[in-house]
Amino acid sequence: DLPAIVLDLDRELPVSAVSLDGRALPASAWRNPDGRLTITPPAPIAAGHPVAVRIRYGGIPVEAKRAPWDGGFVWAKTPDGRPWIATAVQGEGCDLFWPCIDHPTGEPDLVDLRVTVPAPLSAPSGGVLVDIKEDGGKRTFHWRIKTPNTYAVALNIGPYVQLKDTYKSRFGDSFPIEFWTVEGNEAKARGLFAQFAPMLDFYEGMIGPYPFRSEKMGAVETPHLGMEHQTLNAYGAGYAQEIYGFDWLLHHELSHEWFGNQMTNVDWDDMWLHEAFGTYMQPLYSQWLHGDMEYMVRLNEMRVKTFNKFPIVSGKPMEEEAVYDAKVGPGTDIYYKGANMLHSLRALIGDKAFFQATRVLVYGRPDPKPGNFAPRYAVTDDFIKAVNDATGADYGWFFDAYLRHAQLPDLVETREGDDLVLAWKTPAGRFPMPVEVKVGDKVVTLPMADGTGRVRVAGAVPVIVDPGSKILRRQPYLEAYHAWKTAKDASDKAKVDGAKADGAKAAKPK
Ligand SMILES: [Zn+2]
Repeated sequence: DLPAIVLDLDRELPVSAVSLDGRALPASAWRNPDGRLTITPPAPIAAGHPVAVRIRYGGIPVEAKRAPWDGGFVWAKTPDGRPWIATAVQGEGCDLFWPCIDHPTGEPDLVDLRVTVPAPLSAPSGGVLVDIKEDGGKRTFHWRIKTPNTYAVALNIGPYVQLKDTYKSRFGDSFPIEFWTVEGNEAKARGLFAQFAPMLDFYEGMIGPYPFRSEKMGAVETPHLGMEHQTLNAYGAGYAQEIYGFDWLLHHELSHEWFGNQMTNVDWDDMWLHEAFGTYMQPLYSQWLHGDMEYMVRLNEMRVKTFNKFPIVSGKPMEEEAVYDAKVGPGTDIYYKGANMLHSLRALIGDKAFFQATRVLVYGRPDPKPGNFAPRYAVTDDFIKAVNDATGADYGWFFDAYLRHAQLPDLVETREGDDLVLAWKTPAGRFPMPVEVKVGDKVVTLPMADGTGRVRVAGAVPVIVDPGSKILRRQPYLEAYHAWKTAKDASDKAKVDGAKADGAKAAKPK
């Protein structure tokens, strides 16, 4: 039996009325001291008995300081001065503008969203457009969204133009694709829109069916950089051309329809399941489009940005903000280190096992087809189990080293006479990662079953450890680079601050 109904709702949005199954409750029946709205019914609600709660609330919502990293409402203007409004609430939570359960597992089954705006502005959102009602210079957009991630429900308001098409899937069916661009940007937007179908084909080919095909695949131009808003991703990268031939931001946000919205982490501690996979998809798409050079270059750019100060997975419940704060949590390691870890895993277990395990993680089954899966939740151990099932071996040691410990595995190389001797050193303990060594014109694989290996190299030229760049491991030269860069950034900042102070002095009237 339920003595109270508890929901999250920001304190900036005071509640004016609450009803339960159509009966108004007295104001004494609810309180919201810390943004946690507690509603006490006249009598406890019997277990298994559904109730309808209606909450009337309003106010001025929190404004984002730096969307999408610090979330809230974005009150922007288009270049020609018209209103351009967006929301981004991943970190702070859905309760910044609607009553919800602000936790990854709090996904509602269904959201009906009605947004009233002055004509001719539009209010695109996720899911299916039920209707638009025009009334006295105002228009109300009614959207219906199935099982959205709590932070993936968003408002978008502006002078939008809709580009629309039908995507023909490799699975034999088709579904709508759409892009809402700000009026005036149609030409650039068409270039981006042309990338939707090939990107979808990549994801459907490599991972599996687009999960929300009964609604749409969509994106909307926003004044902030981006966010994985389910079926209507936020896009604010300004239609930049890239040397890789596709828009990384759109591709990254789209990845979250699989890694984030279809498969949602149970706790923020498992956020790498969204971001490492989502980030690995861009090198993988480069490989799919143009081959190995761009795949490797992208991975290397990410490897350089690996910090290894905190484990990617702590093993305890985490707040979203703590995961993203590099002072107390893994920060961007959940993206870049995680992506490189997936590259190493794929090299270790092969494409067949890697993609089978990935499909089991995303869909809960190795053979997803439209209609045979539903959105699901997952934890880190679900993926480890999927890898073990796909390979018939125990790869717990791999994930212990890369996810549960901060430091990277260190491959210690020594010469003993004519031999090169290799030994893995990891705080995680056992690490039987095989290592390839190129000796002259031959590549030898050392199994490293006990963590050590030996190969005769004598005077061979060249001798290259891991010539295929398969293994993410400690590289002292990258640590030296980080130390130098940190010192340089601090010194540059001091110079800029000094110059500013001098400028301020000089600008003072004498
Ligand atoms: Zn992401």
